[in-house]
Amino acid sequence: MAYKTINPYNNELVKSYPDATSEEIEQALSTGDALYKKWRNEPVASRSETLHKIADLLRKNEDELAKIATIDMGKLISESKGEVELCAMIADYYADNGADLLKPTPITSRNTGDAEVVKEATGVLMMVEPWNFPYYQIMRVFAPNFMVGNPMILKHASNTPGSAEAFEKIVSEAGAPKGSLTNLFASYDQVSDIIADKRVQGVALTGSKRGGQSVAANAGKNLKKNSMELGGSDAFVVLSDADIDKAVNLAWRVRIYNAGQVCTSAKRFIVADNLYDEFLKKLKENFEKLTPGDPMDPNTTIAPMNSKRAKEKLQGQIDKAVEGGAKIYYGDKPIDLPGQFLEPTILTDISKDNPEFYDELFGPVAQVFKVSSDQEAIDLANDSELGLGGTVVSGDPQRGKRVAEKIETGMVFVNSFFISLPELPFGGIKGSGYGREMSELGLMAFVNEKLIVTA
Ligand code: NAP
Repeated sequence: MAYKTINPYNNELVKSYPDATSEEIEQALSTGDALYKKWRNEPVASRSETLHKIADLLRKNEDELAKIATIDMGKLISESKGEVELCAMIADYYADNGADLLKPTPITSRNTGDAEVVKEATGVLMMVEPWNFPYYQIMRVFAPNFMVGNPMILKHASNTPGSAEAFEKIVSEAGAPKGSLTNLFASYDQVSDIIADKRVQGVALTGSKRGGQSVAANAGKNLKKNSMELGGSDAFVVLSDADIDKAVNLAWRVRIYNAGQVCTSAKRFIVADNLYDEFLKKLKENFEKLTPGDPMDPNTTIAPMNSKRAKEKLQGQIDKAVEGGAKIYYGDKPIDLPGQFLEPTILTDISKDNPEFYDELFGPVAQVFKVSSDQEAIDLANDSELGLGGTVVSGDPQRGKRVAEKIETGMVFVNSFFISLPELPFGGIKGSGYGREMSELGLMAFVNEKLIVTA
């Protein structure tokens, strides 16, 4: 039984889940395939009402769903509630706009008759999702593909089975046909078999580089279209004309949100030399005010990390960074609580030859760098194998935008931290993966854009 909820706040084993059987896998594939064939004959708009119903049920059950996510992976209860609301927004967005966005695109050609590109479903999708936003990660793929008409099989992270089950239940209670979303407590080998099955036409993974490489290799071998949403080590660039309070106010929140376990949270703070000392001082002041505790308690402001393994990995990275010459400006002291707490930590003096310079630090650790020009900030921001998101803070939004244009990532925000909205595309470049989720681009990820010419 690989799938287990272990509450990261107190290390209690809450529930273990039985592994998926071969019969369950065959059932998921055949039900999904039958549904794909049925959906092909139904208008896209016919699925909109059910998706709205899913949004309604998410909102109605927000408290219960939030509790399940918090017990599964430890995030603050307020953050879990926010995540449920965001999922409802995404569902409503695709319910409202899916049919319009999937309308045929006419092509004017002087050389042939009527030409148009129609947007059709392609078949069953395999989605592999991580624990850090246990509902939102599913919804980013589910809502658009439900409208498109691609049934989905879900393999969620082994530490968030409660959330996986709860999401599937909401979909079913909303009246979505069986096979729309089938959650399986599947092993890696079973995921490989599903990807190889001829009824599966696409694979979406959100997770680590290692997981992405393995699943993408499998998808490639079987010629299945795939999208990879992988890690990030986003730069947060503070230009010399920035309002320091505004910059720090964005910086500490984004680094601490979800106990720092967000692919798009700023991890490398690149600060103009005239603001560097003040930035560090104020970042530390904000970190000092944080209160660790039960994530179900609204007074807690820093949550435990999601698992013992994750905390130990990050602690190991901090130790390695320090051995390599980095300095601890703040933090890195034990927290006297039984759960997987790691004190928010600020690292400075991380040179390029430090073993952690190119690593993603997936937790409440801020690396802070000092630069003496915009160009130096851009060069440092781009000196990464990853390219997911980024932030630029400047007193002059146009100057901020000019810097943003030079940052090699899939998303950059000027004078704002990263926000995710259904109408905005989400995704990265370089080692952060390929493809986009959400927005019109995400909707098209697993669509057959089919040309029809009528002479
Ligand atoms: P992970 O180990 O890759 O796990 C993510 C999912 O992939 C889990 O369901 C995991 O299953 C599964 N998985 C991993 N290897 C697999 C394989 N060979 N075959 C089938 N399934 C496999 O990722 P993580 O370390 O838990 O998550 C954190 C990483 O995800 C960070 O790097 C973070 O930046 C990234 N992330 C990216 C985004 C984005 O949108 N770009 C969003 C969130 C997180 P098990 O749980 O059973 O191992």
